[in-house]
Amino acid sequence: MLRLFLFFLIFSNFSLASEINLFTSRHYTSDVKLFEKFTHQTGIKVNVITGKSKVLEKRILEEGKNSKADILFLADAGALYSAQSKNLFTEIQSEKLKRKIPDSLRSKFWVGITKRSRIFFYNPSFLSQEEIRDISYEDLSDKKWYKAIAVRQSNNIYNQSLIASMLEHNGVQKTKKWLTEFVKNFARSPQGNDRAQILMVASGEAKLAIANSYYYALMLSGKKGIEQKKAAEKVLPIFPNQLNRGTHINISGAGILKFSKNKKNAEKFLEFLLTDEVQLDFCSNSFEHPIVNGIKVDSFLGKISNNFLEDTSINVSIYGKRQAEAFKLMKQAGWN
Ligand code: FE
Repeated sequence: MLRLFLFFLIFSNFSLASEINLFTSRHYTSDVKLFEKFTHQTGIKVNVITGKSKVLEKRILEEGKNSKADILFLADAGALYSAQSKNLFTEIQSEKLKRKIPDSLRSKFWVGITKRSRIFFYNPSFLSQEEIRDISYEDLSDKKWYKAIAVRQSNNIYNQSLIASMLEHNGVQKTKKWLTEFVKNFARSPQGNDRAQILMVASGEAKLAIANSYYYALMLSGKKGIEQKKAAEKVLPIFPNQLNRGTHINISGAGILKFSKNKKNAEKFLEFLLTDEVQLDFCSNSFEHPIVNGIKVDSFLGKISNNFLEDTSINVSIYGKRQAEAFKLMKQAGWN
């Protein structure tokens, strides 16, 4: 009996000490399987709390020192920057983490975990390769694309990050002018998610769609149903700005929270997410680009290449710094 009691005592202590609370805005069920793998390997349980990034941010801020959150894992560099600017994170200490992640894809307080490119899609039945070769984001203001472009609304954070990067590269005046021409080229009043834009191109209602790379692969996978799979099969991706700065890259990334009581285990968890094995898992489950160099990608992504020129000339934190400004200009230009 005593032995049994001691066993439970030890066991319960062990389990108490070996838990991390992960707050995440990512909504992929496949992530949970990765977290289970971590538990299996380390004995550290991962409690997952999902929510919109602003909601999680607010909760952690309000709970302050009493917050039980250890890690904040968010999609979009701007969202990470926002949490950083509210002083939620502790500095990244692990050299392992720093070494693995290129400078442009991390800050002092968080590291990128996966990459996504915001690219164009077209239907080769309605648009020849000639017409789209060497295209850039800047080209989308051209009259040639009048009422031809499908894109989601300006309140979408991925769009705000893209425009923030253009502000950084091209300056305010040029971007303002570009936006006024660009909105005239919308095929319809912006609506729907990224996949809805790809559907527009598949059906020929738009000539060009702007969407994140992984949504296309998700459609091709059949996980979103046979209709979307068939539609995606009609469509091809194209990576903009290959002749100059490279394609716009965004990240999902994570940081350890300032008031975390399990910082060491949290660090272990982030290191786990950046192992070759888990990087590959991300690619084959949520179809994102690996962030660690030299990972050979699952052939399923065949159509979404990982060999393209990426824009590494600015740190992704810039998106966060300029998102509000970008959103204002987008609205002013009439991008609903
Ligand atoms: Fe997404």
